[in-house]
Amino acid sequence: MSLKLSKKQREELRMKFGGRCAYCGCQLPEKGWHADHVKAVYRELEIDREAGKQGQFKLKQTGEVFKPEHDCLENLFPACAPCNLFKSTFSINGFRAEIGRQTERARDYSVNFRTAERFGLVQVVSKPVVFWFEQYQAEVTA
Ligand SMILES: [Zn+2]
Repeated sequence: MSLKLSKKQREELRMKFGGRCAYCGCQLPEKGWHADHVKAVYRELEIDREAGKQGQFKLKQTGEVFKPEHDCLENLFPACAPCNLFKSTFSINGFRAEIGRQTERARDYSVNFRTAERFGLVQVVSKPVVFWFEQYQAEVTA
């Protein structure tokens, strides 16, 4: 990310939702969490021909940012690395829909999941995906 946060800003951001990941609600360690752009910042990529080996190529960021207005502190949520990487450029509701498809996807692709489910070791529950920041905000304003 291009926005540089001071140590104090980073700590404030980490504590924004009680020190937990804005999405899954896991406890964030002091180091190793990500500042997620709630609304994505799109960075232009180009092929870096010098970096790639023969027949391969690498992508590099040109520094061009398409939604620079999203690169601000108000648009940042603290997130664990897996949530941040999975969310990628999804919107909040796009991300929610993707998470809602996870059990179906596990059933389709994982023989381990199907076996565990067949033997009653895994039980899929049907419920809406509620992010931690939504629960947290509801508790704070209650
Ligand atoms: Zn998370």
